[in-house]
Parts: sequence; C-alpha cells; structure tokens
Amino acid sequence: MTARKLAAGNWKMNGLAADLAEVEALAKAHPSPAVEVLICPPATLIAPMCTRIAGSAIAVGGQDCHAVEKGAHTGDISAQMLADAGATNVILGHSERRTDHYETDASVRLKTQAAWSADLVAIVCIGETLGEREDGETLDIVGGQLAGSLPDGCTAANTVVAYEPVWAIGTGKVPTLDQIAEVHDFLRARLEERFGAEGAGIPLLYGGSVKPSNADEIFGVSNVDGALVGGASLKAADFGGIIEALERAE
Ligand code: PEP
Repeated sequence: MTARKLAAGNWKMNGLAADLAEVEALAKAHPSPAVEVLICPPATLIAPMCTRIAGSAIAVGGQDCHAVEKGAHTGDISAQMLADAGATNVILGHSERRTDHYETDASVRLKTQAAWSADLVAIVCIGETLGEREDGETLDIVGGQLAGSLPDGCTAANTVVAYEPVWAIGTGKVPTLDQIAEVHDFLRARLEERFGAEGAGIPLLYGGSVKPSNADEIFGVSNVDGALVGGASLKAADFGGIIEALERAE
C-alpha cells in the first residue's frame, strides 16, 4: 500500500475571522489539488472556515481534543465537538502541547482513540529535542513516542504520523535531507512491523520550518508523504507553493 499525500497547515493560536480570506484565496487558487489539503485553524474558526470554503477540496481540522466525549472539563473541546463543527482531522501531541500542557504519550494515545470514535483522522506528532539529537538519541526517542502514542488499530485511513523535530519548529532550522530520511525510513519500518500493510499506507509527514523554497527537496526524501506546516500555512501564497511542490513530488 502506498501512503496518500497530505499538505496540512497548523495555524496554532493565530487567526481571526478576517483571516478566513486567506483560506478562501487558497481554495480558489487550488480548486482540485492532486494531493490532500488540510487547514487546522483555532477551534473558534473551524465552523466559519467550513462555511467559507464549503464545496472546496480543502479539509478543516482541529489542533487538539480531550480524551473523553463530554463532561466537567472547563475550557476543553471533545473530538465529537470538532466533528460537529465540521472538522475531519485533529492534530494530537504537538510538541507545543506536550510542553505547555504536559501531554504524554499515554494521553496522546487516549486522545487518538477519542478522535477515531468521532470519525476524525488523528495526526499524531512526535519529535526529538535538540539535546536529544545531539546526544544521539533521536531514533530511541521517536521510536518510543511512536510506540507509546499510537493505539492498536491504526490504519492508513484513520491515522497520520508527523515527525517534527522540536528544534526545527518555527526556528528556520531544518534537518539535513539524510537526517530526515533516516528518521522517516525508521518510522516506516516500525509502522509496518506493528500494523502490517496498513502501516505501509499511514502517511508520514515532515514538519519543521517547511517553506515553498525548501519543500521540493524535502518532498523528494524517501518516506516523506507530505508536511505539517505552521508559519507558512498562514498565507495562501506560501501554503499554495508547498501544495504545488507536493503535487510535483513522485
Ligand atoms: C508546526 O507547528 O507544526 C510547525 C511545523 O511549525 P513551522 O512550520 O512554523 O516550523
């Protein structure tokens, strides 16, 4: 099984109603992309974004969900609520959530199951810190995060894995192509070992300072099926350039 290609944008805590013009422009510029395109805005913009780009090829996702469906969890949002607002995917275990909200592999695993129960695709993020890379621990760290964050039952349809070196997020620093290949080949092997043919089809995204100017070379790396993009997903022209690079990739 070959993994589908996905360009996913993570707006993080950025975006007001006026910024929906960017996603509308993106939808107009890319009416029928040859790859999957997803934007994950703040939760407040999910429903209005879905309305604004209704009928387009762009999917809308959340940036986190709670592990349970409803209840006394002030300020949290459930997977069912995201789906009800129009989301089809949810980012889970982003390094900013692991740092700011003390999320662990175990909590990400529960959230992944919650996402599936609402028919959302879970985009599970993993990645090493600079210190861990310098200590030669990258594969141990990402292997452990992968094993701990993914529940049994992952399929090519319900799960995406995003490898995001923490030190590359929002910094303009990007690993070498060999470093990306080493991690992605390792992750693919682990996914196939655990999930068989489904593991071969789970999209593996690279994330961390992807821009139109470096996207072609990153998408040429083996087992890179797309990107999770932060800063460069906020502007239609930049994200459009990344989508086009992914369309060019074999
Ligand atoms: C991210 O937030 O997932 C990310 C990769 O950010 P950036 O593209 O800005 O590095």
